[in-house]
Amino acid sequence: MSSPIRASRCRARRILVTGGAGFIGSHLCERLLARGDEVLCVDNFYTGSRENLHGLLDHPDFELLRHDITFPLYVEVDQIYNLACPASPVHYQFDPVQTTKTSVHGSINMLGLAKRVRARILQASTSEVYGDPEIHPQSEHYWGHVNPVGRRSCYDEGKRCAETLFFDYHRQHGLEIKVARIFNTYGPRMHPDDGRVVSNFIVQALRDEPITVYGDGAQSRAFCYVDELVDGLMRLMDAEASITGPLNLGNPAEFTIMELAQKVIALTGSRSRIVRRPLPPDDPRQRRPDITLARTLLDWQPQIALDEGLRRAIPYFERLVTRGGLAPAGAAAA
Ligand code: NAD
Ligand code: UDP
Repeated sequence: MSSPIRASRCRARRILVTGGAGFIGSHLCERLLARGDEVLCVDNFYTGSRENLHGLLDHPDFELLRHDITFPLYVEVDQIYNLACPASPVHYQFDPVQTTKTSVHGSINMLGLAKRVRARILQASTSEVYGDPEIHPQSEHYWGHVNPVGRRSCYDEGKRCAETLFFDYHRQHGLEIKVARIFNTYGPRMHPDDGRVVSNFIVQALRDEPITVYGDGAQSRAFCYVDELVDGLMRLMDAEASITGPLNLGNPAEFTIMELAQKVIALTGSRSRIVRRPLPPDDPRQRRPDITLARTLLDWQPQIALDEGLRRAIPYFERLVTRGGLAPAGAAAA
């Protein structure tokens, strides 16, 4: 009789995670390894870091490859999670042409790879495909309200084109695809300087610096804790082939940005005050996922409330702030 270790190794799949050194990608790599898969993490370290993979680098089933997915990649894998793409407005607007290339050329390269090795491939799409939505909450049937020539377009339209490519490879080449539309996700390993609202507010609060609310703070978002999002991605990938998506993954509990600021101040015991800053162009006014499909098809439903998730995330940022060396929070924004 084979040992349990041998048996589990026989079942091990070789899984490529692009963008695996980023915030969500590093959590995904960790979970896949814990499940017994072999993981090939590909990243160009544009926003990700080796530090995010601390603890995985010595794992015998983990391999890290520095590579930009806008260039072809030749590897043998069973599944591909395509997460490579900067996700924070500050970073994706820094080099917008590269952002579009990553979504479009990168997807073509990863789809070509999937086609050659007959791998199942999942695209990390985004709620940004809905733009500044005219219907609320957003369901997968809604086609969106996106400015094609604005500052967010490199990200929004790049991700929309990637979805088109995924579905055309599916229809034209019979590829097994999965498209997840991820809503705002937060947790440990978010880049402290990347300008996203949760990381900005926590770091500002921990330093008793002003909390920068853009606009009047009445715009809303729905925040999902990273562990639950990763669980949703893995369920979607492993669901039967007919479940292609697009599928919303996010926590439907909706908060205004002002409410988030107040929660962060309360949970950190901060002396920070709230200050107003101009609202960035094309900033969506409201966002909340309709997750009926994910609930029905994947039996997936986030359980971690925002307060609890923030409590889990804050110690990570506390360690960074205590260690020092961070640029002033939000410095990269504006
Ligand atoms: P992140 O910036 O932390 O991670 C992205 C990773 O991709 C980084 O490690 C970066 O170095 C890498 N990368 C970027 N361009 C690359 C390229 N050309 N080749 C190889 N690697 C490249 O962002 P994240 O929050 O972890 O997001 C991961 C994915 O999920 C992204 O595709 C993003 O669009 C999507 N998403 C995230 C959120 C969220 O709230 N975090 C919401 C919607 C969608
Ligand atoms: N935001 C804010 N202060 C900050 C950073 C962001 O008020 O310091 C706002 C931003 O204008 C947006 C919301 O918070 O309305 C979420 O921003 P984020 O960049 O995290 O995500 P996205 O806009 O892509 O959903």
